[in-house]
Amino acid sequence: MASLAAAQVQEVRSITRIERIGAHSHIRGLGLDDSLEPRAVSQGMVGQKMARKAAGVVLQMIREGKIAGRAVLLAGQPGTGKTAIAMGLAQALGPDTPFTSMAGSEIYSLEMSKTEALTQAIRKSIGIRIKEESEIIEGEVVEVVVERAAGGGARVGRLTLKTTDMETNYDMGAKMIDQLLKEKVQAGDVITIDKATGKINKLGRSFARARDYDATGQQARFVQCPEGELQKRKEVVHTVTLHEVDVINSRTHGFLALFSGDTGEIKSEIREQINGKVAEWREEGKAEMIPGVLFIDEAHMLDIECFSFLNRALESETAPVVMMATNRGITRIRGTNYKSPHGIPLDLLDRMIIVPTSPYSQRDLNQILSIRCEEEDCQMSADALTVLTRVATETSLRYAIQLITTASLVARRRKATEVSMEDVKKVYSLFLDEHRSSQFLKEYQDEFMF
Ligand code: ATP
Repeated sequence: MASLAAAQVQEVRSITRIERIGAHSHIRGLGLDDSLEPRAVSQGMVGQKMARKAAGVVLQMIREGKIAGRAVLLAGQPGTGKTAIAMGLAQALGPDTPFTSMAGSEIYSLEMSKTEALTQAIRKSIGIRIKEESEIIEGEVVEVVVERAAGGGARVGRLTLKTTDMETNYDMGAKMIDQLLKEKVQAGDVITIDKATGKINKLGRSFARARDYDATGQQARFVQCPEGELQKRKEVVHTVTLHEVDVINSRTHGFLALFSGDTGEIKSEIREQINGKVAEWREEGKAEMIPGVLFIDEAHMLDIECFSFLNRALESETAPVVMMATNRGITRIRGTNYKSPHGIPLDLLDRMIIVPTSPYSQRDLNQILSIRCEEEDCQMSADALTVLTRVATETSLRYAIQLITTASLVARRRKATEVSMEDVKKVYSLFLDEHRSSQFLKEYQDEFMF
């Protein structure tokens, strides 16, 4: 099960990574120094120092494995960088710590129940590091001979492989012969043979290259055997999420579902089996749990049933850190008639650590906009950036960021390489911000349909 799970997961991860390019693609980390103090501007992050410092403490606790099953709430006005901080945390944790990001509203789907959606999100946020040891022989092919046994019987084959300073003959079975023929292995090729699986890998044609071929970046140890056979004992470490193992082992879906994202509901028996198996691996020292982060944006969109489910799920020994973000103040808890701070029940709030974010200064806004310009490859004149900063102060940061793209299109249309103040003013008048749009609706409401 372990090797199957690992083989496909590499690709799944790269898919998730692509999704992150967008509004927050300029964020490359939390912008903290070695003692976790926030730098003024670093890794795409600007200002919001207290919240970034708090996120740094959370980062440290996750790294030390101290904070599994805790919940953190980022609370603050719209556009104060809550999502940006969560993304920065994901980057700082690195690709080996699972980080799942979802919006509260995503749990309302026709395909699965709310609790199933949450369970999947939770299991996507727990990683298992599986260690496997494999022994690999590496050498240059001297000769391949494949023959039919006398009387037209089964094929027999012999492979002569030159390792560092000696030649060894290997008798091959049908499966290995098939592989050699398929890979068109011939004299002079450098190949590896995995002793455990018999898998053959063609590396290239020069022995020198074979020495540094380890393209997977995994640690490799060369062992000089007494017989002179160059062997390579490789400790292969895969990190998969519990959800990936669930899907791969779910007979109705199979691993292909991982690519389509169409996993449907997963039977609880499968999850129990997987939990048992993982516990076994952990006991044998073959696997290690890595609790990651589940980030739920717009947390006020969850309802009372979800909150109660999460409350219980957080108590499990293997729960991830749940990080939520909301821009709501005192709001009704969905599914009830009660109001509570952030629309989150008091008992859940009580077990959360709350990190507030505050509005940006003009200087911070200017810097964020300038970073976004760079990210979008947009040259902007200093006075245009000043106007855009004023727009951000008076309307919203998000609206001002949108104007970068549109203003740069306008500049390109007049064949200019730099966005001018006029371009910004033009797009400001073409595209309304939320406030002017509401104003417009109020003025002309009689003319709209009811
Ligand atoms: P909402 O409550 O509306 O969801 P939010 O607090 O999650 O808002 P973000 O989406 O994080 O706000 O911020 C809006 C935009 O500004 C994003 O493109 C984000 O990357 C950028 N941004 C916000 N804060 C910072 C920051 N401190 N440094 C760099 N970029 C930032």
